[in-house]
Amino acid sequence: MTRKMRNKQSSTVSGQKTKMTLGKILLLAWQPFFLLIASEIVLQLVSIIHSFYIRDIFDAAVAGDIDILLAKTPIFIILVCGMFPFNTWLSYIRAVFVKKASTVLKQRYLQRIFSKNVNEFQSSGISRYINDITNNANTLEEKYFQQMTVVIMSVTAFFGSLAIIISVNWQTLIFVVPCLVILLFVMYKTGNLLKKPEQTKAGYLEEYTRYAKESLSAFRIVKSFQLEKRILRDFDQRSKDVQEKGYEIEKRGTYLQALNQFMSSGVALFGLLAGARAVATGALSIGVLFIIIMAVSNLIHPIFMLSEALPPLRSVEPIFEKMEQHLENQQVQQINKPYPGLEQQISLNNVSFDYPDIPVLKNANVKFKKGGKYLIIGPSGSGKSTILRLLRKYFNPDQGQIMIDDLQLNKIDTASYYQKLANIEQNIFIFDDTIRNNITLFQDVSEEKLKSAVTAAGLDNLLNSRTNGLDDILVNNGADLSGGEKARIAIARGLLAEADIILLDEPFASLDDETAQKIEQKLLDLTGVTILNVSHVVFNNTKNLYDDILLVKNGLIYTKSE
Ligand code: ADP
Ligand code: MG
Repeated sequence: MTRKMRNKQSSTVSGQKTKMTLGKILLLAWQPFFLLIASEIVLQLVSIIHSFYIRDIFDAAVAGDIDILLAKTPIFIILVCGMFPFNTWLSYIRAVFVKKASTVLKQRYLQRIFSKNVNEFQSSGISRYINDITNNANTLEEKYFQQMTVVIMSVTAFFGSLAIIISVNWQTLIFVVPCLVILLFVMYKTGNLLKKPEQTKAGYLEEYTRYAKESLSAFRIVKSFQLEKRILRDFDQRSKDVQEKGYEIEKRGTYLQALNQFMSSGVALFGLLAGARAVATGALSIGVLFIIIMAVSNLIHPIFMLSEALPPLRSVEPIFEKMEQHLENQQVQQINKPYPGLEQQISLNNVSFDYPDIPVLKNANVKFKKGGKYLIIGPSGSGKSTILRLLRKYFNPDQGQIMIDDLQLNKIDTASYYQKLANIEQNIFIFDDTIRNNITLFQDVSEEKLKSAVTAAGLDNLLNSRTNGLDDILVNNGADLSGGEKARIAIARGLLAEADIILLDEPFASLDDETAQKIEQKLLDLTGVTILNVSHVVFNNTKNLYDDILLVKNGLIYTKSE
């Protein structure tokens, strides 16, 4: 069975999980969300009282009733003045809600990235995740959370206005309601027209971000081989695609808005005419007509705002769905046994492994004894790093098994396995933090242990050259460290990990021979620790310290004796 087919099968299992939606994200920011709704409702209640005062003041003025006029005016003034701090509060709580919802979205995304299988994360490329958490998260903030505040404001204003009309003259609704129904229907339909282009634009944007990241990562190569023209041309095309889709969305949006606006104006005119007729026949007082006009226009305005807010709100759902999809693990991990520690041996039994279209291992067999020291050599591209990746559980073998004592590696719980596994890889990431934290990786380690790891890894010179020693801050992925210094930090990390297996992938490539041999000797002195060292440098001084030297070639692993 190919790996693709297996992915397909297991993905149906993961599809059964309860689905996360944007609506549920709102509930994760429930405090400002409900506070916002409550505040908008209070605002509407105050507006209703406010309207009644206007009606009474108007009618008292028309009737020449000074007593009522004087009695009503002070509270009316207080109500009007109270609106100012209240509206300020509303703007504040809207902003708090948007901030909170956006933060929750991003935090949740980051948390979930780290539960992705390493192999799936690596094979999909990092830029899609960067795009999700920058471009797509911003789009969601702008087009979902911000528009959601507009929706809440509009819906409460709508019902507030409706309440006013019902309480002063419900018959007006006989004219207004059918018009509103038509308006809402048109808006709903137009929302669908923007969904598709938004989706396409998000796709282009992802492609654009990927390309931007890749071409900037290749900055040095681009400059030294003068590839600027080529990069600029490709870049142009991608950015044009994004811009053109954006333009198309704007164009459609403007047209749909104009249509909605036209329909809203029609309804307003209709309401006005009906009101004027009612006053003429004596069915309404001037005060009532006045607040009905206000209420009807306050009814139309929210619908108009909704017509602007709803299409973007609905158009971004596919973006969120795609982000969720990116986070899903295609291969579902079984419930695994905790790693008990290595007792006897690691064995690869008839292991075969291919990358898509690139065969690497074919029925490879090998045993690594507990505490053994193994040097792994072989031509470039023969699969040495791949063997270590398989042992790190980045991938599973296509056929055959990797056994840790009598447990299958793919049935061992990854987190507990990683606690006892040290990796010294070629790509060494340096955190923006002190040298100390970069070595300890934020674990509590005694000064004594730290000192001996630092010395064993040959870091003393680096520390002496730094004003603050271990507390010197490294920045920008260790931009001011040499390759060798980074490698030493990685080695010190490995020594501190108290692992029972240490996997090294060309750790000495950027060190001078003398330093490399010293460090290698220290590593080989670690009793009880199983060491697999992939290296193309074989030192005569140290090669006899290995229990075995393995050659990886043509998909097979040969021991020295073979
Ligand atoms: P080595 O470490 O012995 O130089 P690797 O194990 O890195 O070799 O690679 C073995 C083969 O697999 C090479 O042909 C390489 O191009 C290919 N390869 C390595 N990593 C990947 C990957 N992530 N996707 C596809 N092919 C890969
Ligand atoms: Mg390699």
